[in-house]
Amino acid sequence: MKSFQVGILGATGAVGQKFVRLLEDHPWFTIRVLGASERSAGKKYEEAAHWIEPTEMPSDIAPLEVVECTPEQFNGADFVFSGLDSSVAEEIEKNFAEAGIPVISNAKNYRMHEQVPLLVPEVNPDHAELITKQKFNSDGSGWIVTNPNCVSVPLSMSLKPLEDAFGIESLVVTSMQSTSGAGYPGVASLDILANVVPYIGGEESKVETESTKVLGSLGEDSITFNNFTIQATAVRVPTIEGHLLSVSVKLKNPPSSIDKAKQAYTDWNNPIADLKLPSSPANPIRLYTKNRHPQPRLHADREGGMQTAVGRLRNGTVMDLGYVTMAHNTIRGAAGGAILNGELLAAKGYLS
Ligand code: NAP
Repeated sequence: MKSFQVGILGATGAVGQKFVRLLEDHPWFTIRVLGASERSAGKKYEEAAHWIEPTEMPSDIAPLEVVECTPEQFNGADFVFSGLDSSVAEEIEKNFAEAGIPVISNAKNYRMHEQVPLLVPEVNPDHAELITKQKFNSDGSGWIVTNPNCVSVPLSMSLKPLEDAFGIESLVVTSMQSTSGAGYPGVASLDILANVVPYIGGEESKVETESTKVLGSLGEDSITFNNFTIQATAVRVPTIEGHLLSVSVKLKNPPSSIDKAKQAYTDWNNPIADLKLPSSPANPIRLYTKNRHPQPRLHADREGGMQTAVGRLRNGTVMDLGYVTMAHNTIRGAAGGAILNGELLAAKGYLS
């Protein structure tokens, strides 16, 4: 695989720092440029970033000067990862795509754009083809790919084997979301310590739409959304990493037994396993059988934070099945998911 020089937009934030840590020693991608707001531009990265990762800041990254997020400043980057705040991502990411620099983004702004893939490599790798329909610049060299929000990732991963085996009619999901999902400094300590906040602004509508796009089918030049109906509730809980979801699902052709439902998970095949991507977990979905598992503190870091956990799979009384699912929100649900997208796009030849 060719070696790529990459830039990071929003490099000082919670997700940006995760990119910096996960890309240390990456076999294909080397960090070349770090960008953030004008508040950080001109400072060394070690001065601009309030480092919240548990490992040391990489010594070759610490002295790099942070630049403003303009394409001119990212000269030399083959493509960029974006961890930009959504209040600025729309304009900045468009500027990069128009300048011929591909953007692999975590921000919400282009997730619903008709020609922008909302990519989860193990669920909808074929959606990457939409890139060829984008017209951000005349020769198609600049494009945008997004990953779903940190709840929609474990939701769509956990639904995929059920969709393939039985078809999904409707579902109700409640997400118990960790504090890191709000970025840094995030939720005020007096709001969240020993407490649950029963509302996260803007989150429920994202969960309700994004999973129907991820589990949709690729058409001529857009995605036909899956037509299952979904009701979401999002609450903030005092965990640090790992969003845990409680899901109740009604199926089109329900399984005859709970063992058949379990078999849908054990029989499921990862469609990108053959590509052997560096960040790809060996087991993208793990089915836990102990009633007390999975738990964010114990299991969110499994397989480098890239595994989706499913547990408590059981027959429902109102809907057909109930289960819980969980994934690491800032790795699988953000930076790690975007890096896996980058690896898939490199392996499929979209990056050059
Ligand atoms: P964050 O900690 O607040 O970081 C925001 C980043 O955006 C910082 O680097 C900040 O730079 C930069 N920024 C702000 N205004 C800017 C401007 N005018 N020009 C250029 N850069 C600017 O947020 P986060 O939690 O990392 O989230 C980043 C993005 O990822 C958001 O769109 C979020 O919705 C999405 N996301 C987050 C998670 C999660 O679990 N946290 C999961 C999935 C997706 P300064 O430091 O210079 O201000």
